Amino acid sequence: MKILEHRQSGLTVGFVPTMGALHNGHGQIIQTSRQETDITVVSIFVNPKQFAPHEDFNEYPRPVDADIAFLNNHKADYLFMPTAAEMYPADFITKISFHQGVASELEAIFRPHFFDGVAVVVTKLLMAVFPDIAYFGEKDYQQFCVIKQLVKDLNIPIKIQSVPTVREPSGLALSSRNIYLNSDNKKASELLNKVLYDVATQIKQGITSEKACQEGERYLLTNGFDKIDYLVARDSQTLSPHIQNDTRILVAAWIQNVRLIDNISL
Ligand code: AMP
Repeated sequence: MKILEHRQSGLTVGFVPTMGALHNGHGQIIQTSRQETDITVVSIFVNPKQFAPHEDFNEYPRPVDADIAFLNNHKADYLFMPTAAEMYPADFITKISFHQGVASELEAIFRPHFFDGVAVVVTKLLMAVFPDIAYFGEKDYQQFCVIKQLVKDLNIPIKIQSVPTVREPSGLALSSRNIYLNSDNKKASELLNKVLYDVATQIKQGITSEKACQEGERYLLTNGFDKIDYLVARDSQTLSPHIQNDTRILVAAWIQNVRLIDNISL
């Protein structure tokens, strides 16, 4: 049965796009979709367009059998797993590009190709599945903001909904890339979330966000991290440093050759 036929028969459809190597963060999103909609569709596609040539496209984990078992356990109704040739045939030429607003800083500076690649794949996946609601994790907070902007700009009639970040008991956000961490790195990486909370506490105590973030960067660099791409407090809706709504604290940091991102609300 086509997904659209479910909608035509009056059922609601939730969609969870992923790149596979599924973990309980994905599991939580699937569970949310199952609670809120009648039919849950999950996609697995490692999107070549969102990786720069020097990034980890080839190494990205692809445990297909384990992912299928995971989806069965989590009672997803459909798996959509297109090939790269199906998504991007040889004559594919469309580009979507962002340079402003929520897509102008943070990840956009350090991974300039990233949101353009995400936008193309998400648009294609949304058009293919055409759900009522598409779910995205707060773990990739800026990505969630960019996708909300994308569907607004293009009048795509699909609700974009966020799901809170799922963490290990240590606070480390679950990520398919955590398997790249060795045990020493893993221990240090657990400090990332702690630093976000320290920054939040200091801001609440009246210390400027610049000073609190500088302190946080210093702490990470002296406790196992090699490089900080950013640790900043931003407006939760515009991602601007001029905060008019709630505050979101976002970090991207390197531990050896692994780049971790995380964020919390103040
Ligand atoms: P990915 O497979 O990493 O592309 O992620 C697919 C979706 O799962 C994205 O919307 C992510 O934001 C979300 N996600 C990834 N990790 C987590 C997590 N720890 N908690 C909640 N959502 C997550």
